[in-house]
Amino acid sequence: MNRLERMMQRCANREAERERAFNEKVARERARREKRHAENVIGGTPKTDQAKELALTLMKVHGLHDWLFEFDRAVFRYGCCHWVRKTITLSRALVELNLMQETGDCILHEIAHALAGVTHWHDKHWKKTAKSIGCTGTRCYGDHVKQPRGKWTCSCPVCGYTAERRKRTKSSCGKCSPTFDPRFLLIWTENL
Ligand SMILES: [Zn+2]
Ligand SMILES: [Zn+2]
Repeated sequence: MNRLERMMQRCANREAERERAFNEKVARERARREKRHAENVIGGTPKTDQAKELALTLMKVHGLHDWLFEFDRAVFRYGCCHWVRKTITLSRALVELNLMQETGDCILHEIAHALAGVTHWHDKHWKKTAKSIGCTGTRCYGDHVKQPRGKWTCSCPVCGYTAERRKRTKSSCGKCSPTFDPRFLLIWTENL
């Protein structure tokens, strides 16, 4: 092989490597999407469709005739009551992950906010309103509500500490050293 041929060979190798990495990424994304979809469908109907229908029905039953329903992109709070926009929103991710029973309770929780009014937040009046419409009247959610998994798992090579994170950062283990220490650099793996 002469110099030019070697250069072209290297170029082709790099190109193949890039293509392989890209295809792997596409396959990972697809697997993640399919898993989410499988978790969402119960009895042939997506939970998100069931949740929307349930929300609209319950809102009508409790007199919120001029209120709207939407999904939002939150991952840590289940639902939200927007008094100004007169809209109740639910987290699409949490609806997909959890049982309809939890979603139903969350819808009633938000309806109670709408009925009690913006000034009451989670006070006694709100709680009474919530219980009167059949909500458990608990704060937004307890330990029984599932949250989406982080995209990444970090682990400490020294003490074995692991945690899930939404984003990958360059940091060291907080258990082994309170300040950044490269000896305890966390190792990251992508969750599927
Ligand atoms: Zn609340
Ligand atoms: Zn550690």
